[in-house]
Amino acid sequence: MKNWEANIRRVTPYTPGEQPREPRMIKLNTNENPYPPSPAVEQAAKELGADRLRLYPDPASSVLTEALAGFYRRKPEEIFVGVGSDDVLAMAFQTFFQSGKPILFPDITYSFYPVWAELFRIPWKSPALDSEFRIVKEDYFGENGGIVFPNPNAPTGIYMELSEVEEILQKNRDVIVIVDEAYVDFAGPSAIELVDRYDNLLVVQTFSKSRSMAGMRIGFAVGNPELIRYLNDVKYSFNSYTMSQAALELGAAAVGDETYFRETLGKIIRVREETKRELSALGFVFPDSRANFIFASHESCPAEELFEALKAEHIYVRHFHGPRIGNYLRITIGTEEQMAALLAFLRDYLKEHSGKRRKTDS
Ligand code: PMP
Repeated sequence: MKNWEANIRRVTPYTPGEQPREPRMIKLNTNENPYPPSPAVEQAAKELGADRLRLYPDPASSVLTEALAGFYRRKPEEIFVGVGSDDVLAMAFQTFFQSGKPILFPDITYSFYPVWAELFRIPWKSPALDSEFRIVKEDYFGENGGIVFPNPNAPTGIYMELSEVEEILQKNRDVIVIVDEAYVDFAGPSAIELVDRYDNLLVVQTFSKSRSMAGMRIGFAVGNPELIRYLNDVKYSFNSYTMSQAALELGAAAVGDETYFRETLGKIIRVREETKRELSALGFVFPDSRANFIFASHESCPAEELFEALKAEHIYVRHFHGPRIGNYLRITIGTEEQMAALLAFLRDYLKEHSGKRRKTDS
């Protein structure tokens, strides 16, 4: 070991899903939206103009916070924006989880949470999901240094009703509770409606899924103005210009096109429900997802085998290793055509290989 190595901060990083560059692949592995962003975003991109990039962007990100405030009927002071919700969440971990007591998040959840906790030296505990992969709300009623969980949870897709989210808030008035709503637009009511009643609630959302803009990196948080001020203090202590001018203007354009947003959501939800029926018929089991993915396990064919067989066919899904989840695949909802291709392959593969399995069994 070289002497300087002793002074290096070592961390175990988060592993993002693969971003293969194949022209004819079906990409169902990172929960992106299969539809393009609103045509209003394309128009805004044309109008932006390269000369606008000469100047620094507005550090307060006003065009975007104002557009979001209008959409969610909040005040701009109640909104914080960042470079994807990963940036917003990382900033929130640094700002709000300073008590020295362990923060809580589920054992099966977004795997970035333990990475940030370790990076920022925040102690943490992760209560287990129940046997059906549901969050047990009572596990979050004891003393803690703060709480974070996705709703719907990832990778299970299970949505917790707002009444239960509210119970967690009621039992935790002295710490900050972060509800990560990356997938809420596909699911049900947002906890944003609880912000007026709970000054310790921070709701985080993203443009990466429901607004088809993963590549632009836009996320935001909604909370009372005091929480947002604390977040901004940390942001301005780190990087005044997290959001590019392009992200601000294109993001605002996306928020302006509510009709397109609702249409796209409607299509994905319809295809998701159809895919559930088809997967069940093929012998898959899965929690009842309300997100834009399904977390499915086959009754006889191992997930790892299916993952490799799909990949060989240029169909990418996500497979996580780990206790209780190793035999599941997380399948993003694509277009109707993409899902039809996935299901046709699975149908053939399972037919062929269940025959083989029976032969080797006997
Ligand atoms: N939260 C959850 C639960 C997620 O699954 C993701 C997507 N990886 C994110 C946050 C971050 O998304 P983004 O940074 O693209 O907004």
